[in-house]
Amino acid sequence: MNEKKRLFGKRYFAGKVTELPCQCAAFDQDCFMPEALRKGEAIIRGIPVSAGVCRGKLLVLRRARPVIDKRPVSDAAIAEEINRFEKALAQTRQQLLGIQRKVSEAMGAQESSIFDSHLLVLEDPVLLDKVIRVIQEEKVNAEYAFHSMAEHYAAVLAASQDDYLRERATDIRDVTARVLNNLLGLEDEMDLRHLKEPCLVIGHDLTPSNTAQLDKRNVLGFGTDVGSKTSHTAIMARSLRIPAVVGLKNASDQLESGQYALLDGYNGLIVVNPTDQTLYEYGQLEKKQLTLQEKLRDILARPAITLDGHRIFLSANIEHVSDVDAVKSQGAEGVGLFRTEYLFLEREHPPSEEQQYEAYRAVASALKPMPVVIRTLDLGGDKFLSHMHLPVEMNPFLGWRAIRFCLQERDVFREQLRAILRASAEGNVRMMYPMISGLDELNQANALVEEYKAELRQEAVPFDEGIEIGAMIETPSAVIVADSLAKRLKFFSIGTNDLIQYALAVDRLNEKIAHLYEPTHPAIVRLIKATVDAAQHEKIRVSVCGEMAGDPVLAPLLVGLGVGELSAAPPLLGPVKFILRRLKLAEAQELAQFALACESAADILARCQELAHQVAPGLFEASSETAKSTA
Ligand code: PEP
Ligand code: MG
Repeated sequence: MNEKKRLFGKRYFAGKVTELPCQCAAFDQDCFMPEALRKGEAIIRGIPVSAGVCRGKLLVLRRARPVIDKRPVSDAAIAEEINRFEKALAQTRQQLLGIQRKVSEAMGAQESSIFDSHLLVLEDPVLLDKVIRVIQEEKVNAEYAFHSMAEHYAAVLAASQDDYLRERATDIRDVTARVLNNLLGLEDEMDLRHLKEPCLVIGHDLTPSNTAQLDKRNVLGFGTDVGSKTSHTAIMARSLRIPAVVGLKNASDQLESGQYALLDGYNGLIVVNPTDQTLYEYGQLEKKQLTLQEKLRDILARPAITLDGHRIFLSANIEHVSDVDAVKSQGAEGVGLFRTEYLFLEREHPPSEEQQYEAYRAVASALKPMPVVIRTLDLGGDKFLSHMHLPVEMNPFLGWRAIRFCLQERDVFREQLRAILRASAEGNVRMMYPMISGLDELNQANALVEEYKAELRQEAVPFDEGIEIGAMIETPSAVIVADSLAKRLKFFSIGTNDLIQYALAVDRLNEKIAHLYEPTHPAIVRLIKATVDAAQHEKIRVSVCGEMAGDPVLAPLLVGLGVGELSAAPPLLGPVKFILRRLKLAEAQELAQFALACESAADILARCQELAHQVAPGLFEASSETAKSTA
């Protein structure tokens, strides 16, 4: 492999890399960017993760690369070397606790809990014991021992297929850099607390701690070479509402501080040296955005009702108790999916029944009388817990996840079910099982609910005797036996994110086969229709809570297929309501009839786009109609 390219992926490497080939959309071919970027306008494309447009001078972060020498240490000096290492760990711990405190004050406890995983690295007994053993046995300096061990760990995790494990590699490298800086007495050059003027920050990989310290007044937006929509950095950007683009490949090595650029967080573009024409186009786009935002604000309190009077229920997907504010402010009519696993992911120990009860109660009572659908634990797949030490699996999405995990880990399930039942006394709580693949699982879960209801009755603890129970329909087998499931449930919620990956055999995280992940595949359309038919036959409700529900292009298709409720992240509800209010049910049904008879995913998508652009053109002009975004 090209030495420069091989080294580029590393956080610490010696020697300056100058010219690397990369995809330059402006020239539509491989080119040497520095030259191109210094002269005319050039575009770098990445993955949009946080909406908005900003422009300004670039600040390109290049992390200092301390040279990690291997130094022999005499027997007499080994104790002192271990002492130095331990002091650096303690110093790093103090620094991280300080950052965590500030983030917690500024953004709340949920966001600051991201640093728990960093602090855990500093306490990892296996890693620390190994470092001390290397110092003692190989008689080498602490920097070398720590860097080599930590990099070994990080490299193994970074090579994983799994997004979550790859993110843990980033955590380890972030902490390693801090410990090494402390051992070597260096300042952290990635510290973004002291920026003097507004800028766009570009880095190879902004860590959560860098991101959390971004000063919003001076960081207009940021872009990184690596990353995914699910990385902590992307999550932070959305929560700070800073426009951001990730996956820019080697942009941080090609761009230079001081260059003028525009960042388009809608379409995932960095436009370097934008021409007057480009700036004008984006100025127009921003005006359209402002107008659109006003229109969306106007309909916030109005119902999602089609022009011919068909009412659709719009609810929100949430992950945290603090999302309640967004549920209210975005005009949601309830919570269609509370992903409870985030309560488990963001802490050192699993939450107790009491802690869970508090969280569920807080959401239910804040939103009362609106319904809140609490989904039982959906761990596994791409969501793992450091504190539960789950085994690494070859096919985690086909493995020990969701209801399968809960039916075996009875203590965990019992605490959660009791907490949900108890919270049902405080609001309009509904319960939903994830990843049901057949009747046995449903019957087992229902039997446990009955058992815990009996316990609570005996303890004279109040709960809603009539609590409604539903299931996610996200496996093809659940669709096939949907008639049987429907007889035993009060509602279905179609999890299209998983249903698509399981039905089409396309890993939802794998970017190499992302083009095969097609929500409008005829098989998906027919699976949704079959689910709706089974639900209607038993007169139970059916909703969609996968990402399809939050896509204004696809929402009409779902409505036309007979879906009565759409549940999506709160910021996505406005655009969906906007389009539904401009649509006739008859048009949505005609679209669905076309899709059910059609044999091509591309044709179905084209027809969905055609209808969406026809009924709500303003929605699309405001985010993508510049020459750059459509090129
Ligand atoms: C789904 O699979 O569509 C869904 C909503 O669940 P999750 O994205 O949490 O797997
Ligand atoms: Mg799912």
